[in-house]
Amino acid sequence: MSLKTALSRIRSIPELQKRYNIFINIDPSAEKRLVDNADKELPLSHLVAGIKDNIVTKDLPTTCASKILETYQSPYDATCVRRLREAGVVIAGKTNLDEFGMGSGGIHSHFGPVLNPLYPSTKITAGGSSSGSAAAVAAGAVDFALGTDTGGSVRLPAAFNAVLGFKPSYGRISRYGVVAYAQSLDTVGILSKGMPVLRKVYNVLNEYDSKDPTSLSNDLRKKANKLFKEKGKLRIGIPQEFLQASISADYKNLFFRFIKELMDMGHEFYPVTIPSVKDSLPIYYTLSPAEAVSNLSRYDGIRYGTRADTTDIENGTLFAPTRANFGREVQDRIILGNYNLCSETFKNNYVKAQKLRVGLMNDFDEIFRGPNIISNSKGNVSGVDLIISLTATGPPSTIESFTSAENSSPTNEYLNDVFTMPMSLAGLPTLSIPLGNDVPLGVQVTAQFADDETVLNFADRIV
Ligand code: GLN
Repeated sequence: MSLKTALSRIRSIPELQKRYNIFINIDPSAEKRLVDNADKELPLSHLVAGIKDNIVTKDLPTTCASKILETYQSPYDATCVRRLREAGVVIAGKTNLDEFGMGSGGIHSHFGPVLNPLYPSTKITAGGSSSGSAAAVAAGAVDFALGTDTGGSVRLPAAFNAVLGFKPSYGRISRYGVVAYAQSLDTVGILSKGMPVLRKVYNVLNEYDSKDPTSLSNDLRKKANKLFKEKGKLRIGIPQEFLQASISADYKNLFFRFIKELMDMGHEFYPVTIPSVKDSLPIYYTLSPAEAVSNLSRYDGIRYGTRADTTDIENGTLFAPTRANFGREVQDRIILGNYNLCSETFKNNYVKAQKLRVGLMNDFDEIFRGPNIISNSKGNVSGVDLIISLTATGPPSTIESFTSAENSSPTNEYLNDVFTMPMSLAGLPTLSIPLGNDVPLGVQVTAQFADDETVLNFADRIV
């Protein structure tokens, strides 16, 4: 990557920001940092990055796109940010998102919606919640961006902006300094236009971190390296549950044309079924708000962010005036999470969802050839190495229709992630690959837990 390209990316940002509302905070010293570091030869020298604004940075505020954290400034860098800086990356700014990562349209931000750069003259959503990260890459403002993916938030916007979006296996990239939404699902992901950059960034971030209790241990990393060797021709499964009738004929045709190209390369295809996929949406929307509710309880205005200046109690409720600063979607999730955790519903909702989640993980284990190093399933000798599906059920909509559909029913928005949530619930490595230049459509390629290499090697050959 050349210094010249990096400079032109940074200089393009003010104009792109005006058009697409990509960033929440832009670093005014990015150009100087780039020039000061110009002669250093580091693995990621001359690469410009955008960092989703729920990942903490010590030189720029971290708002999570929320009014409640509008002025919050972290005293430290997240591990992933520190590693990027040490490898020579210059951070251009913090990218816009759905508040606390909750959403799939990039519209639930205190700082206004992100617009999709593939459509310069119409207001189309960029997907969410890593909307700004995907738009930053698509618009050419950065070489790559970090996002977070809890149920699809890297892959969906990647597909809608026609860029690559990689969600590694749960635990591969440190979550230390990533503001928790639902910690059993949260994963840091990478968005870029090409595989070489994505690979290099992943190599820098794919390290054990003792500060993250869920970081994959060095022993398990070694075990995975030994088990999952480079494979030539692959056995690829097409999960039947993802071929829904609601997908348009155009989308299906593009998908099957892609499969045909892969067959011509010698890969073998098999229909597979993952029956528990049908449970993914209810499992996700039972567990993720329950985890979110406990994570969001720290925002009382005392330790972080803004505190109501009049009183801490309203109608007998502690912190109500401060917490009124949460946006509508976040407030809805708090109600949902508390409901799922309250004594009357806990067993029937939360515990049941946990059981169903294990069922889904087992279903995945049954179709993969490789073993699962966490569940210790042995692998299915006649199973597949990868599964492939579309990333989204349809194209991105206009901001206007997205907002009105959402008003009539929040489940319409929740349905955007039906194809991405199952992989999150099972912690699997998965990459959304654009199906064409500037076409807002992606295919999602997924492998067994910890077999991130098979996903990346496969993409290296076709992107
Ligand atoms: N759209 C999903 C949600 O709102 C997923 C979000 C994410 O992956 N952060 O929870």
